[in-house]
Amino acid sequence: MENQVLEIVVSEKNGKDLVLKVPKGTVIKDFETGRIICDLSEDGQKELVLRGGRGGKGNVHFATSTRQVPDFAIDGEKGKEIEVVLELKSIADVGLVGFPNAGKSTLLSVVTSATPKIADYPFTTLDPNLGVVKTKSGESFIIADIPGIIEGASEGVGLGLKFLRHVERTRLLFHMIDVSGLNGRDAVQDFEQINNELEKYSDKLINKKQIVVANKIDIMQDRKQLENLKKKAEEKKLEFFEISGATRYGVDELMEHVAKVLKTLPKEDIFDNDEKMVYTLDDDNTGFTIEKTGEHEYYVSGPDIENLMRRVNIADHESFAYMQKMLKKLGVEDALREKGVCEGDTIRILDWHFEYYM
Ligand code: GDP
Ligand code: MG
Repeated sequence: MENQVLEIVVSEKNGKDLVLKVPKGTVIKDFETGRIICDLSEDGQKELVLRGGRGGKGNVHFATSTRQVPDFAIDGEKGKEIEVVLELKSIADVGLVGFPNAGKSTLLSVVTSATPKIADYPFTTLDPNLGVVKTKSGESFIIADIPGIIEGASEGVGLGLKFLRHVERTRLLFHMIDVSGLNGRDAVQDFEQINNELEKYSDKLINKKQIVVANKIDIMQDRKQLENLKKKAEEKKLEFFEISGATRYGVDELMEHVAKVLKTLPKEDIFDNDEKMVYTLDDDNTGFTIEKTGEHEYYVSGPDIENLMRRVNIADHESFAYMQKMLKKLGVEDALREKGVCEGDTIRILDWHFEYYM
């Protein structure tokens, strides 16, 4: 990662551009529709999110996961407003999978500056932790320690699904297994159980390149578990490494190796297919259609109109008056009259119902 910081631009016609720097992997979505406006995943990428209005000011509201209601623009001459969500997609190259307690968090903490919770009990990490690995030879990649797979993860039990979706976007998996023999577990059994979970979830996951990482060899009771696991990995034609995250034994070699392997693997698309609806802001969204949905009912739809309705506060007098003014300005009133709207008819826009008065 040469340049982690990318820019989004909010341009103001008669003013300065507002430039915001965002981390690589940031996806900008329309708050209301969830549609992707742009995805900043290329080095040095710069995207225009909102053009300035006619002499007015472009306004942009940022909403976090909890909705922040934007200030209502009473001035009809103001430029476009848009509420957007900035979402940082995980674009981890390497995902750590394995049973809780296998040592995933520990490994992440020794190879990156991330500070995940490390516990000596088999509770899972709640959120994925990402960190940047910088190898001694100067390569770098992103590694993610993700909540542990538990039995039944592919059926949506516990943290499973959220985690699996996350791991789907990585390019390579470290399958970490505790081979110490101290916890009464069987390394080969653990390995197979996790793979079963991956397979149940998707072919994509089970076919992802996997490196088998035998961990905790510093406290290994005997080599039996390790040897069995190694045999299993060979059978499956998977690469095998033995390390100790705690003492760092074998860790640097593993990281150097992975940096090399990553160069041979294609970049993963960070979106699910059905999410790939990148659109750009059109200059003209003022069009609308009126549909007669009943004898005395009309349904009005169109991008600007719907946008207006989403932002309007019906309970607020000024806001409501502004909405009426805008509907007139956009030509909705005239068009309704052309369609033969009568006093008392119902006008529907999105979920709103209005009664029409001349
Ligand atoms: P995770 O659940 O897979 O994230 O596992 P953690 O990283 O939280 O580690 C679980 C426990 O194993 C912690 O007490 C760690 O200190 C310990 N641990 C992790 N890696 C090693 C290792 O290489 N050697 C030893 N001796 N202990 C380890
Ligand atoms: Mg952990």
